[in-house]
Amino acid sequence: MSLDKSRDLYNKARTLLPGGVSSPVRAIKPYPFYTESANGSKIKDIDGNEYIDYCLAYGPNILGHANPTIKQAIINQLEKGWLYGTPTDLEVNLAEKIVSLYPSIDMLRFVSTGTEATMSALRAARGFTGKNKFVKIEGGFHGAHDAVLVKAGSGATTLGKPDSLGIPEDFTKNTLQVPFNDIEALTQVIEKNQDDMAAVILEPVMGNIGPVLPEGDFLKDVRKVTEENDVVLIFDEVITGFRLAMGGAQEYFGVTPDMTTLGKIVGGGMPIGVFGGKKEIIEMIAPSGSVYQAGTFSGSPASVAAGLTVIDVLEKEEVHKNLNATGDMMRSRLSEIVADLNLDYNVVGIASMFKIFFGDKPLNYQDVLKCDKEGYLKFFFKMLDSGVFLPPSQFETNFISTAHSEEDIEKTLSAYEANLK
Ligand code: PLP
Repeated sequence: MSLDKSRDLYNKARTLLPGGVSSPVRAIKPYPFYTESANGSKIKDIDGNEYIDYCLAYGPNILGHANPTIKQAIINQLEKGWLYGTPTDLEVNLAEKIVSLYPSIDMLRFVSTGTEATMSALRAARGFTGKNKFVKIEGGFHGAHDAVLVKAGSGATTLGKPDSLGIPEDFTKNTLQVPFNDIEALTQVIEKNQDDMAAVILEPVMGNIGPVLPEGDFLKDVRKVTEENDVVLIFDEVITGFRLAMGGAQEYFGVTPDMTTLGKIVGGGMPIGVFGGKKEIIEMIAPSGSVYQAGTFSGSPASVAAGLTVIDVLEKEEVHKNLNATGDMMRSRLSEIVADLNLDYNVVGIASMFKIFFGDKPLNYQDVLKCDKEGYLKFFFKMLDSGVFLPPSQFETNFISTAHSEEDIEKTLSAYEANLK
């Protein structure tokens, strides 16, 4: 397999873009492949190599790349213009749809990224409660804004840089951390800081160090302790929203938070973010209230048109049943392979998310850090050589789309078996 064109482009790119990329996780060493195009389950690089893709742009492309129905919806919108700076019926329709599917959301605002969604959700929770502190889970990733870049997952963990330079301590002093699946630690932190505790934000399934799943009644217990202490509970469903079920992890696990953030799938692969919640909290947002939030690209018509279309397809074709069954099958076949090869690895995941952990089954961030991440990276390159593109890190989740055929899955399982040997 030749990657000569990618290598040459990388040499130029790194003089122009830090690390040669526009976002850190893409910086595979010694150099990433640069993409020429993608269609269905496949992604093609500029050297002409084609891979079955389980990265899927880190989650948004649940119907695969360049899905024809979404493409047509975007084209139809482009014909009418793609940015107005005025409200549209599209955003009202998408808001209505989301509200009907997420019982935690009475009202919402559209933004352009998941980062903006969690930043604004935390601001709203603080504005609403008049309190400053919030709890995040160690290893939880909520985007790249100052207050949440403490023990953050995703690229920050992959690169071994859980914290960032350039963030004054004052900006993170109200960010308190507890391990995932540890209700005692969470309860203690909330009770100790009750006078100034605004919110708890968490990924119901930790997708940026995993997936790491909630154990037993953890999510229900989190709901109980936040309710008892008047703390706003925010589910960051940027990955899990529309992935686990139409109503996200909150539908899947039957736990309703006070606020929810969405992104990725809800824009059909176009840039989007959403934060929503109880009416009394969201009405605090400007111009109806005094919590300021604004954006030139918020409610971008092409993103909203793509979002309405993806939801329509997911709903009409009842996609989750089959997709989640494929995930179950994939995890069980991978577990058999791991067992047959006598490996001390663990297959984890839920719905259409999966991963092999090169180590014991993790319950939290500290467990995850113990896995063999260098070994995983070697395995990643072998898979690439076999024509399978997994996210290039032990800490990023693999996703399945409706575009993955049986043939793709069988080819992928054979590649796992051959490369794990
Ligand atoms: N929240 C979660 C759970 C995420 O996984 C991500 C991104 O991966 C974000 C927030 C940030 O979203 P974005 O990259 O669109 O800013």
